[in-house]
Amino acid sequence: MNNILSLPLLLKQLKLMTILKSWEEAEQQADESKWRYGKYLQFLTELEINSRYSSRIKRYVKESQLPSGKTLATFQFNAVPSVNRQQIEAFAENTKWIKECHNLIFFGPSGLGKTHLASAIAYGAINQGVRVFFAKTTSLVQKLQQAKSKFQLPEAIAKLDRYSLLILDDIGYAKKDELETSVLFELIANRYEAGSLIITSNLAFSNWDQIFPDTMIAVAAIDRIIHHSTVINLSGASYRKKESEIQKDIVNGGKK
Ligand code: ADP
Ligand code: MG
Repeated sequence: MNNILSLPLLLKQLKLMTILKSWEEAEQQADESKWRYGKYLQFLTELEINSRYSSRIKRYVKESQLPSGKTLATFQFNAVPSVNRQQIEAFAENTKWIKECHNLIFFGPSGLGKTHLASAIAYGAINQGVRVFFAKTTSLVQKLQQAKSKFQLPEAIAKLDRYSLLILDDIGYAKKDELETSVLFELIANRYEAGSLIITSNLAFSNWDQIFPDTMIAVAAIDRIIHHSTVINLSGASYRKKESEIQKDIVNGGKK
């Protein structure tokens, strides 16, 4: 042990970068407030832990590729009476369902807020330290197909294992794979009881043979998804449409 290293160098070596930045200023505060040594140490340790936590959350938000701003705070529950606010808030605030590899499936026509709600729940999970990845299903399927053509599908699927929650947005827009087994099925089978999925879809289960190569594979995929799952059905008028009507109203000064 080299005991001639200065405190800043020791802190750097231990990668305690927040303490490195703050120890001198905190020392002054400790003097002024007559803190005991233990209190000073605790103060610095808490600073380090808090800053690590917030930079980790920032990193998780960035890697998740979630659409920005689609949080619970920006969702107007009164616009969609078919949505149970308490249920959505519970999924966002308590990540037990993710630990249990439970899935959520949002069904409903376009513009009702499926993607927004999926993202809002995911932001809630990230805030509790869960790693999330949001994917438009079509582009993820394309990427997995490319990997498959290079015989790297297992590796590409395994890369997604690092995310405890994977969002497959708009699964209904995914096109059938021409090859015998779809990469989408392989992904779903891989996550079964190993990770959580949130799926959004404008296509009911009964039409999922449009997404998978044949009915048997569609049934096998649905079986794995619904075994541990909650289905949330959205109904009503499109929020986008409602909003544009309100805007038209404003432009027309309320005249129809
Ligand atoms: P879907 O995925 O069902 O097609 P989106 O979640 O993309 O619908 O919603 C369409 C747009 O309307 C998005 O910009 C979304 O943020 C917004 N939106 C939908 N429902 C609501 C709502 N209840 N409150 C606030 N914004 C909403
Ligand atoms: Mg959507």
